[in-house]
Amino acid sequence: MNAWKMEPDAPVVAAWGMGVDSTAMIIEWVARRMRLDVVLTADTGAERPETYEFLPVFQRWMDRHGIEHHVVQYEPQRFKHWPPYFTILENCLTNATLPSASFNRKSCSVKWKIAPQNRWVENWPSAKAAWARGRRVTKLIGYDASPADSRRYAHRVGVEDPRYDFRYPLREWGWDREACAQRVRAEGLPVPVKSSCFICAAMRPEEVASLPHWALRLIVLLEARAAPRLRNVEGLWRRATRTRPGTMTAFIRERELLAHDDIDAIATGAPVDLIEFQQVTAQIPLHERPALREWIDRFNAGVSGIEI
Ligand code: SF4
Repeated sequence: MNAWKMEPDAPVVAAWGMGVDSTAMIIEWVARRMRLDVVLTADTGAERPETYEFLPVFQRWMDRHGIEHHVVQYEPQRFKHWPPYFTILENCLTNATLPSASFNRKSCSVKWKIAPQNRWVENWPSAKAAWARGRRVTKLIGYDASPADSRRYAHRVGVEDPRYDFRYPLREWGWDREACAQRVRAEGLPVPVKSSCFICAAMRPEEVASLPHWALRLIVLLEARAAPRLRNVEGLWRRATRTRPGTMTAFIRERELLAHDDIDAIATGAPVDLIEFQQVTAQIPLHERPALREWIDRFNAGVSGIEI
């Protein structure tokens, strides 16, 4: 029995991850006429393309139901001599590394998802007022009752933050992922895909296979850029298993998702081109320095060489 009780004057924020679970949670929560003050979504800048297609669909649903919602992002402050970067992909390319999920750590999620939401709440007058009264903000988290989410939940249980009461409505209702999908369908909405960065270690092979060419090319680039510095992992998928290789690049090559020539050209040429870009831009004052996005736009367009 959940002993949790919602304080009547405590503000309630829902974390919407843009996937099926948290979408169903918000739909049902609203249908049950429970208090909901704001919905926050953290955008890493490298979500799956289908997720970005679903974002405005559900934003319109929230608008129709009068729910305040915001998309928040991690904002890097100090770029040192680097071209400014604004997404998890650009951050990894800058530092020649992979998301921490590929090293079996969670810091990418904390940095790109949890921290931006917490920062928003810290500046939210309703939260400040509640904390001043000695209350906590209620945070709704969309972990479902399936074994996978039960493991994630088990990790979180006992995580104490004096500012928040964490609540897991889907687990209170005993909903698994299929129940969530049914609830979203019943609302007349398309069922969103599992949300994650397209460069996440948690991407399944078939999910990688469904990515558009531009995303596959960026995966090859990311793994090639990080490869010289990797010691204990082979690539984004860490190490090979019976069902897939340790690098997504090998999978992309095996399945011929990109032309072999294109993969070779990216792996050998693009990291060098990127390093040159970083070296040249390092000489430019920060307020005039081109952002990494400009180099990526040229890479996506198939243009190489420095052009500043
Ligand atoms: S989806 Fe994966 S790569 Fe993206 S922030 Fe979360 S754990 Fe990191």
